[in-house]
Amino acid sequence: MDPKELWRQILLRLYPTVRHDQFITWFADTGILRVDGAVLVLGVPNQFAYNWLVQHYNDRILEIAKVLDANITEISIVVDSALNNPDDNRKVPLASVVPEIKKVRKMPNRQEVKVTADTISYMLNPKYMLQNYIVGKHNRLVHAACQAVAANPGSQWNPLFIYGGVGLGKTHLLQGTGREILRNFPDKIVVYFTAERFLNEVVDAIKKYNAQDFKARYRNVDCLIVDDIQLLADKDRTQEEFFHLFNELYNANKQLILSSDRPPKELAGIETRLQSRFEMGMVAEVHFPDYETRLAILQNKCSEQQVMLAPEVLDFIAYNVHHSIRELEGVLLQAIAQMRLENITPTVKSVGTIVRRLDGNGEISAGGRPQVDAKLSVRNADDVINLVADYYRVPSSELRGSVRKREIMLPRQVCMYLIYEVLGHSYDTIGDYFSGRNHTTVLHSYNKIKEKLGKDSKLLQDVHSLKREMGL
Ligand code: ADP
Ligand code: MG
Repeated sequence: MDPKELWRQILLRLYPTVRHDQFITWFADTGILRVDGAVLVLGVPNQFAYNWLVQHYNDRILEIAKVLDANITEISIVVDSALNNPDDNRKVPLASVVPEIKKVRKMPNRQEVKVTADTISYMLNPKYMLQNYIVGKHNRLVHAACQAVAANPGSQWNPLFIYGGVGLGKTHLLQGTGREILRNFPDKIVVYFTAERFLNEVVDAIKKYNAQDFKARYRNVDCLIVDDIQLLADKDRTQEEFFHLFNELYNANKQLILSSDRPPKELAGIETRLQSRFEMGMVAEVHFPDYETRLAILQNKCSEQQVMLAPEVLDFIAYNVHHSIRELEGVLLQAIAQMRLENITPTVKSVGTIVRRLDGNGEISAGGRPQVDAKLSVRNADDVINLVADYYRVPSSELRGSVRKREIMLPRQVCMYLIYEVLGHSYDTIGDYFSGRNHTTVLHSYNKIKEKLGKDSKLLQDVHSLKREMGL
């Protein structure tokens, strides 16, 4: 690829990730001057552009350049004032990159352009790859779905919708899939958004351009990834724009990959027409992995970090962290830090202290979660149902069944509440434990208990006792 075409290809990939006005401001009059072996030399017209690009775009430009040309490993930005000359044909005319935008506001003058850190979020973090995602039986399906999408984006599994609790690997899978698509198809344009970033983008676009132009900005994108879509709840205007963008991309066979903390139907505050679109392709849940997988994740992290820890220490961590992989990694990384900085060889005791401390101040685990060394005595929904049945002295088969007597209904609702709170299963899954009740019934029971806990001290005490019995 000649330098001019290379720069045009890079700009095409950068454009969807940079605000339109900023893009025009900073990338006008730029061009690749030459490629010196592994170094891409980028020319910019003045010092302002130099400072800005070095600070904010260096890594992203390099990232994209590497995908397009594997020989490039470095980028060097230089000021070349000759680029100010309108006839300098080393530069790429932005008109060949940017769709026509009719209502562009007056261009802000350079000092006014705000420096934002947001741009970072567009980048795929190289540490998230499908190859370093540990696969166990609980996440085999979701991992396979990601691989299928990466091998064949925009075809069968579209959209790919991944849901599950905090810290269970959704972002890892989304970004890993995006990266894998780039590896398989370096010419594709992949854009990753957090939902918050998407929201800001829409708000910004509405202020400055019209909705048509908003869509136009993403017309060239081959794969759009939006993480934590639940954050668009009740943001009607953003949902509206997303809906149109979704349809446009979907109809053009572009891949959409989304994540959320719950399944599409349970996304309160998200329009039903979006919910149903989310269900059109592949919906897959990420689960908290079993003990063996947790151990494998820890071992993998140790080899990444090039450290060896005693098997019983890894075993202790794998056994005692119950909520998220982020927490699991947090404990391990702290132990490694202690070892490196303070020369403390991690032992079960020292790691136990870390686990308790992290859990206690809620830094990495959700508030109100169990003390980790008080081992959770319930492993699955059956355990919870049996425990509640014992506690209320009713048969567990009746809790699962459809009897509508008060003595049964309250314990049943308590079961659903606890399974949701403690095990973090989705309403849908919980419904299956109770003779296939649908998710709205479960949601209703959950809300009912939650509301009652505020005013019924007997119930509060029951729930407390049950949680204590579960080791919370
Ligand atoms: P989420 O987006 O669901 O909140 P993340 O993707 O941020 O979770 O995952 C939290 C951390 O756990 C990340 O560092 C991620 O790399 C790691 N992680 C989660 N699941 C796995 C897995 N199966 N194998 C390896 N690392 C994992
Ligand atoms: Mg995430």
